Amino acid sequence: MSSTMMDVPLTLDWIADRAERWFPDVEIVSRRPDKSLTRTTYARVIARAKRLARALGAAGIKRGDRVATLMWNHAEHLEAYFGIPLAGAVIHTLNLRLHPDEIAYIAMDAGDRILIVDDVLLPLYDKVVASGAKFERVLVVGSHGEHESYEAFLEAAPATRALPRLAETDELGTCYTSGTTGRPKGVVYSHRSTLLHTLVAAMPDSLSLSHADSLLPVVPMFHVNAWGLPYIAAMVGAKVVFPGCHLDPPSLLELMATERVTIAAGVPTIWIGIRDVLDAKPGHYKLVPNVRMIVGGSAAPEQLIRDFDRHGLTLIHAWGMTETSPIGTVSRLPAALEGADDATKYALRARQGRPVPFVELRVRNENGDVPADDTTSGEVHIRGPWISASYVGGHTPERWTDDGFFRTGDVARIDKHGFIKLTDRIADLIKSGGEWIASQELENALMGHPAVREAAVIGVPHPKWSERPLAAVVLKDGQLCVADELRTFLASRFPKFWVPDAFVFVETIPRTSAGKFKKTELRDTYRDWKW
Ligand code: AMP
Repeated sequence: MSSTMMDVPLTLDWIADRAERWFPDVEIVSRRPDKSLTRTTYARVIARAKRLARALGAAGIKRGDRVATLMWNHAEHLEAYFGIPLAGAVIHTLNLRLHPDEIAYIAMDAGDRILIVDDVLLPLYDKVVASGAKFERVLVVGSHGEHESYEAFLEAAPATRALPRLAETDELGTCYTSGTTGRPKGVVYSHRSTLLHTLVAAMPDSLSLSHADSLLPVVPMFHVNAWGLPYIAAMVGAKVVFPGCHLDPPSLLELMATERVTIAAGVPTIWIGIRDVLDAKPGHYKLVPNVRMIVGGSAAPEQLIRDFDRHGLTLIHAWGMTETSPIGTVSRLPAALEGADDATKYALRARQGRPVPFVELRVRNENGDVPADDTTSGEVHIRGPWISASYVGGHTPERWTDDGFFRTGDVARIDKHGFIKLTDRIADLIKSGGEWIASQELENALMGHPAVREAAVIGVPHPKWSERPLAAVVLKDGQLCVADELRTFLASRFPKFWVPDAFVFVETIPRTSAGKFKKTELRDTYRDWKW
C-alpha cells in the first residue's frame, strides 16, 4: 500500500457541503424583475440544490445527462449550478442573448433533456421551441401558467433518495463558444477542472475572493459560468448579490451601495456605462472604498482604468475564453513596480497580464516562441488542467497543437515582465498592402481620447491596399470631435499606415451576446464603403 496522501476526488459536493456546513448564514441576495430584493442563505440554497438533485434523479436524469437553464443571475440559478451536477448531470447554461434559432441549435446539439426557465423568459422560450428545440420537461421559476412549476418539482423530491457518488472526471457543465466564425461549439467542464479552476481563481493574485467579500457578478451566469465566480464565492463563503435582469448602470450602482459590494465582475461595456454615471454624478453613490472590479471578455481600455481610479474603484484586468474555464491570465502589478511612474503602471494594468498557476502559456509565430521584447507578436497558445482538450463532437481538431496546447486565435506580444498584451483576434487583423494592422490596439488608443466613449476598428475592402481600416466611433454625450482630430491623435502613436482612412460617427456599436463589439456585423455594414 502506498504511503502518500488520501485519494479524495475533486468533486463539487465538496464545495456544496462546505458552504452549507461552514457558511450557513451568509446571504445570497437576488434582484427580482419587479426590482424588489429577496434574501436567502447558503444553508437554504444548498439544501434546495440537494432537493433539486434528488428530484432530477427521481425524474430519470442519469449521469452525464444534460439539464439546461435559461435564466438571469439569481439564487435559483445558483441552486441549479449545484443541484444539476450533484445529480450527476451536466448543467448547460443557455445564453438568452442569442437568436432563438441559435439557442435551439445549441440545445439540440447538447441533447438537453430538461430545461429550467425564468417566467420572464417564457416569450423567448416559445421562440426557441418554434425554432425546433425539444425538451422532455420544462420547469418554470416564478409564474408558471400552464407549464410545470419549478417549486412543485422541488417539493415533490423524494426525501431520502441517495445522490450519486461523483467521480472527478465526471462532466459537470457545458458552455458553447460564441461562434462568431462558424457554428457554436460545445466545451465540457469536469468536476476536477472546475474545482481546480475555483481554487486557483480565488487566490490573491488571481481574482482574489474571501469570506469578507460581497460579490456582484454582473457577468451573466450563461457567460462561461459567470467566470466561475458562483463556485468561488461558495467555496470561500462570500456574500453574493445577484442583479437579475436589471443591468443598467443606476440599478447596479444602487445595489453596489446598498449591499456594500466589495468586488464586481463584468465586461468593459458595463464598466463604461458605470463610469459615465459616476462622472455625471460624482459622490452620489456611497460605495465601499476601493471596490475591485474584474474586467474581461474584451480589452479594458487604459483610460477606463485611470477613470475608475479617480472614483476610488480598482479595475483588475483578466483574460480568458469559454475554452479556458475561463481564467487564463490576470494583470497584477509586480511588487517591484509599485514605485514606478503612472504611465508605466497604467500601461501594465491595461495588459492582460501573466498566467495564473497551472496555466502554461506561450506566444508563437512562424519562427517559434516570440522573445519577450514587446515588439514581436504571435498567437497565444495555452495548456492546463482547466483548458478544453477538444470540442464536443471533435470539431476543428486543428485548434490543438501536436504537443497539446490550445490555439486561442488571439494575437499578443509579451514584455520583459512576462505580461502579455493582446493586440487582436487573428480573424480581426487588417491586412493593408501586405502589412498587418492590429484593430484592437487602435480601438484602445481611440478610447483614450477625451471625447470618445467607444470605438471599433475594422478592415474594409480597398481596391489598392486590399483592406484599409475604418473606425466606427461613439462620442461621449455633448462632445464634438472631427475625424481630423482623431487622425492627429492616432498619428502620434502609430505608424502612419495604421491610421484609419475613414471615421464614421455612430450612435451605438453592434454587440455580441456577451457584450463585445460585433465586428462581423460592422464589416457587413461597411462592406461596400466608397473610399
Ligand atoms: P468568449 O469565449 O466568448 O469568452 O471569448 C473569448 C475571447 O474574448 C478571447 O479569445 C479574446 O479574444 C477575448 N477576450 C477575453 N478577455 C479579454 C481581455 N481581457 N482582453 C482582450 N480580449 C479578451
